[in-house]
Parts: sequence; C-alpha cells; structure tokens
Amino acid sequence: MKRRDFMKKAGVAAAATAATSVAAPAVWAQGKKYQWKMVTTWPPNFPVLQVGAERFAKRVNEATEGRITIQVFAGGELVPPLGCLDAVSNGTVELFSGAAYYWAGKIPAAQWFSSVPFGLNPQGINTWFYAGDGLKLWEEVYAPFNLVPRPQGNTGVQMGGWFRKEMKTMEDWKGLKMRIPGLGGKVVAKAGGTVVLLPGGEIFTSLERGVIDATEWVGPLHDLRLGLYKAAKYYYYPGWHEPGTCLEVTFNKKVYDSLPSDLKLILDSVAMETNLWSLSQFEAQNGQALEELINKHNVDLKEFPPEMLQQLKKLSEEVLEEEAAKDPMSKKVNEAFKKFREQIGPWGTVSEKSFYDTIFGKYSLKAAK
Ligand code: CA
Repeated sequence: MKRRDFMKKAGVAAAATAATSVAAPAVWAQGKKYQWKMVTTWPPNFPVLQVGAERFAKRVNEATEGRITIQVFAGGELVPPLGCLDAVSNGTVELFSGAAYYWAGKIPAAQWFSSVPFGLNPQGINTWFYAGDGLKLWEEVYAPFNLVPRPQGNTGVQMGGWFRKEMKTMEDWKGLKMRIPGLGGKVVAKAGGTVVLLPGGEIFTSLERGVIDATEWVGPLHDLRLGLYKAAKYYYYPGWHEPGTCLEVTFNKKVYDSLPSDLKLILDSVAMETNLWSLSQFEAQNGQALEELINKHNVDLKEFPPEMLQQLKKLSEEVLEEEAAKDPMSKKVNEAFKKFREQIGPWGTVSEKSFYDTIFGKYSLKAAK
C-alpha cells in the first residue's frame, strides 16, 4: 500500500472510530446481549484450570463491555464433569472448559488435540494450532458434534507420576497397578501393567492403602496439593505420557456461528491469551512446588532411565498406530500430527533443546537427593 493510500485509509478509520465512540453505547444498548452458562470438567477452585475458566468468563465480560455474560459451573455443579461435551453439543449450555482426551470414547480423534505420549511439548502443540493445521483439523473433528473448539490452556510438561517402588527396568512395569488414563494407560498396559481408573477424589487413599502401586496426576503444583508425597516415595519425570496437555474452551457451534464477527474475535482472542496465561501459571508455580516437595517433604525425585523411555516410546508409537487404525478421522489426524512433529523437530533440536542443555543443564537434579 502506498503511503498516501494508507494515510487516506487511516483517516477514514480514525473518523469512523470517532463516530462509533459516540454512537457505540447507544447501538450496544439496543444490541443483543448474551447470557451464557459455561460448564467445566474441573473441581471447584481447581488451581489454574477452573480458575482459568473463570478468568476466561470474566475477561470476555470485560472485553465485550457486558454484551456477553458467562456464569461458570465447576464439574458436577450443573452437569457431571464428563457430561460437558453432550451438554454443549445439544445446546443445553453454550460452552465448556475441559480437555479433548476426555471425549475419546465418543470422538476417538479428539485425543490428539489434548496430548499424546511422546507427542508435542506446549510450544509444539501451540505451534500446531496457531501456525500449522492443528486447529483447522480440530474444528473439522468437532463440527459434526455441533462444537467449535479453541485452545484455552496448557499444563506444561507433566510429571511421570508417584511410585511406591523404584522403576529400574521394563520388568518393573509388569503387574504394576497404576492410575493413568487415556493413551498413556494403553502404553502402560502394553508394558504389562494393570491400569486402574479412579476419580481424582479416590487417588490419594488408593495409593496410600496400596490398592494401586503408582499414579500420575498433573505436575508439582497440583500433586503437592493432593498430598501424594504422603502416599508414595518416588516422584518420577518426565511426564512422557502428557508432554504438554492442551485444555480447551469449546462453544456450541450454532451459538458461535450466529455471533457478530467482533464477538467471535473477542472470544478467540481471550481464549488465546488465557492459553498463554495458563501455561505461564504452571511454569511459574511448578518449580516452587517441586522445591517444596523435595526440601520440605523429602520426596525422592527420579528420572526414568533413558533405555526405559526409549522402550515406552516404541510402545507408544504402536498404541498410536492401533488407535489411528480404528477410524478414518483418527488416521487423518495422526498422520497430520506426525508430519507436523517431523517438520518442527529439527528446529526444536538446535533451538530449545540446545538452550536447555547448555543453559539449564541438569539444574533440577541439583535439588534432588
Ligand atoms: Ca495427567
């Protein structure tokens, strides 16, 4: 654009803005106001995740100057945590906050959009959504269910979990009773373990009583709060099964599509900034929580042996291919996911990996015994 044209356009835009700033309140007062309900899969007051959903609602209200008001209900308050998808799909409520792997039973291809074992880290999965084909594919997967998804948070790399015994070789997985949901659970089963499904409220007691031998949960911040260090001695990393779990805000498609474009833009933008806010919270607070676990609660921090991680990676690839073979959409998403990971891998190796190796080195191990 030539400078003259630009100035001309800028002048028009400025005049339009000046006009709207006077007229806007009157127009909006007449304009449609939306009063929505948002359900979540999270417990009340759950750090970062439920708090993030409530923050999203508040920010949307502020950014729209009250044109959209969202009342937030934690898991179980209006519908059961795992009833969120159906409630929004059938239009009972307008939106939910959750994680896509919860819907694997109904939409198998959904699980690639939250996290897959040895998949993408937070930087990688966000890049897939915002600069690759990830979000477009996710929209395609959800559209038949009358849903529009947006990334709305990320847990960061999770921890490998709490174990009552040391994990030295692949033999140690045989017969191990572990609470680990989703694709990670399928990998553990393939390694010879027994996967136990437990709601969050029963994990601590089951581990403490030895009903299970191990559990994964989230990361230091949430694990500290659940008190898991009182029930198992060894705290393993990395969370190979959830290397950067994406959280979602998902809208009823008819509701979303019927909105004026400025409101769509606000919802998309607030989802995006909440995504960054959420990851930043985890990054800022996990380190402190880990130090507290080690120094105050004498937790034994351990890294899974490299050979074990290689074996688990091999099993994970088998599980992903088996899952992808179950339906055409899963296959399409899995192929796109793998292709994108190949695409960004080389750059990640010379940028982030090198940075962590040289700058941080084995920093975390300094704190460990
Ligand atoms: Ca987890």
